[in-house]
Amino acid sequence: MIELVHVSKTYLMGKVEIPALSDVSVTIEEGEFVAITGASGSGKSTLLHVAGCLDRPTSGTYRFRGRDVSRFSDGELTRVRNKEIGFVFQAFHLLWNETAVRNVMLPLLYSGSNNKKERAIAALESVGLKHRLSHKPGEMSGGEQQRVAIARAIVKEPHLILADEPTGNLDSESGQGIMKIFEELNRKGTTVVIVTHEQVVAEHCRRIVRLRDGQTVED
Ligand code: ADP
Ligand code: MG
Repeated sequence: MIELVHVSKTYLMGKVEIPALSDVSVTIEEGEFVAITGASGSGKSTLLHVAGCLDRPTSGTYRFRGRDVSRFSDGELTRVRNKEIGFVFQAFHLLWNETAVRNVMLPLLYSGSNNKKERAIAALESVGLKHRLSHKPGEMSGGEQQRVAIARAIVKEPHLILADEPTGNLDSESGQGIMKIFEELNRKGTTVVIVTHEQVVAEHCRRIVRLRDGQTVED
């Protein structure tokens, strides 16, 4: 699914080069459930952005589902991302004035798919939100908002789910509920990669990749 080969990523701040990833080689097979851990600033989000085709490596090769996407154009990367990958973020990123159903329908609006509303409702039901379809984000708890975000990420049935600190804004009980949803998705065959700096969250996953200063120090 994911094959990073000697991947480095350097950010340029004025004239200063910031090495965010240094020679990282990681392979993740289809069906895996992986945590990326490490201290703040260790390169976790950068790794997720490269893996999710949101960003390109500065050097090295990234093969996603067999294709060398490190040389893809912006448009090609966007197409891969929209069709094959679902993202979940710490801050949910929901539209505040839209209902849960409308938020989850959003990824379908650009794809001319049928039964948009039915698919959105099915996705919300699968994360336990059947009773919150018409609620807006401000009318839901943090845990429920993150469930809406997960429903939005899975509504197109992506091959890969990438989550960046998905429980970071939640109390531990809501966080456990979110991890159960990821476990269930993985059990049904979706590849799941979760970035977290919390050991208790990482322990839900079947494999832990640890980063330090942009390098893998444990796998
Ligand atoms: P983590 O998610 O583990 O906290 P990041 O991948 O966000 O780490 O960041 C790794 C390093 O790269 C940090 O030193 C961070 O300051 C730097 N960095 C991340 N994104 C950018 C950016 N867009 N521009 C410049 N530096 C960045
Ligand atoms: Mg981060």
